[in-house]
Amino acid sequence: MAECVFCRIVSREVPADIILQDERCVAFRDVRKQAPVHVLIVPREHVVSLAEAEEEHRDLLGYLLLIARKVAEAERIADSGFRVVINSNADAGQTVDHLHVHVLGGRPMQWPPG
Ligand code: AMP
Repeated sequence: MAECVFCRIVSREVPADIILQDERCVAFRDVRKQAPVHVLIVPREHVVSLAEAEEEHRDLLGYLLLIARKVAEAERIADSGFRVVINSNADAGQTVDHLHVHVLGGRPMQWPPG
């Protein structure tokens, strides 16, 4: 996926403030942060969205949530609280067509989300 910006971050063609990476995913700071802590976790595999995830992605999806917990601990927001968001398709506001998990925290949040 040559034009996918998150694939290009994964392959290090596009710079990003990477805070954690392993064989399955890369976590980096969002360029337009919406909270004091705003980290994106992207799988190395190009999956377009949660709406397009399949049974074969079951382990990966669970893995991404565990990484979200690790990010929250590393960023010291696990105890104060954090929000995990996956926007899927247009109405949810997905702007990058590569599955990603937002981890947000460091301030109180509203509910319901906008
Ligand atoms: P979403 O709207 O759920 O698709 O989230 C996409 C997120 O990616 C947005 O919060 C953007 O600010 C963020 N983003 C887009 N390009 C980059 C980039 N090159 N580096 C870091 N974050 C990015």
